[in-house]
Amino acid sequence: MPVPRPWGVVGLKFPFVANDEGVPIGEIRYERPGEPESIPSLLLKVLLTHKPLSIQVHPDDTYAQSIGLPNGKTEAWYVVSAAPGAKVALGLSRQMTPECFREAVEDGSISALVAWQSVSTGDVVSVPSGTIHAIGADLIIAEIQQRSDTTYRIFDHGRKRELHVESAIAVADTGPVVVQARPIPLTDERTLLISNAHFVFERIRLAPGTMWWLEAARESWLLVLSGGARVGSFNIAAGDAIFAQSDRVNIDAGPDGLVALLAYSGAGGPVADVLQRITQPGSTDSKFAETRQKPSSFSATTAAHSPQRKESIR
Ligand SMILES: [Zn+2]
Repeated sequence: MPVPRPWGVVGLKFPFVANDEGVPIGEIRYERPGEPESIPSLLLKVLLTHKPLSIQVHPDDTYAQSIGLPNGKTEAWYVVSAAPGAKVALGLSRQMTPECFREAVEDGSISALVAWQSVSTGDVVSVPSGTIHAIGADLIIAEIQQRSDTTYRIFDHGRKRELHVESAIAVADTGPVVVQARPIPLTDERTLLISNAHFVFERIRLAPGTMWWLEAARESWLLVLSGGARVGSFNIAAGDAIFAQSDRVNIDAGPDGLVALLAYSGAGGPVADVLQRITQPGSTDSKFAETRQKPSSFSATTAAHSPQRKESIR
């Protein structure tokens, strides 16, 4: 579902169809087919920016629940494409007291105090609740987030939308952010991008012609970045997403293979058997698998990486 936004783009890229009404589209929101039985905990969006988004912050679960909301909002970004020099802002460039922060929000000087950093295609950014953040211009970003619309805006580039100063002061970390996690290879196909108390975010890369089960026990989103696959009875290509839950989904990677983002709900880190190779006796794929498939079970790989993992997941 395309969502108009003042910072959005008019001609959509990343294989979305351009809208011809001249309305800048800022978000593609992926929706689950049919009425969900229960309210999902995750939202998948693709953000397309032509101008910077507002500088903002989201509450954590504790604060959100204290004001009657079901949950807060932790989000994570994968940079699908970035124009040269494109930037995102994360945290402040120095520690500020709540009083100084209030003044800086009220007089607009906060815009010069956020820590902008350059991003390029393939970068991953973790945005825990309470982190002051903004997405700059000329980016396409895939975002997985806790399902919540609670945004406290602290600077809007003169767009005159409402600011939420008091709420932002109550929830924001008013200092620099801690070092970001780095992606960690889990198997030949899976790379862990981010793992937190709410979701796991991975990139998967399936070789051409290989067949897999996606064990989607939890709420699971798969967003295709490149290549394609047959998933159940659907053909999916770049920009398409599938949702599955309490289900086992058959993925046949196409002739170009499949590169996709996989996000699923839950704490406790990546799930070992979320992706399982299907090998058919006597098939070409099976021979390929026999020569190539190492006994690199997920748990073995994880064990080898565990000291780094603990550190970098924070
Ligand atoms: Zn946000």
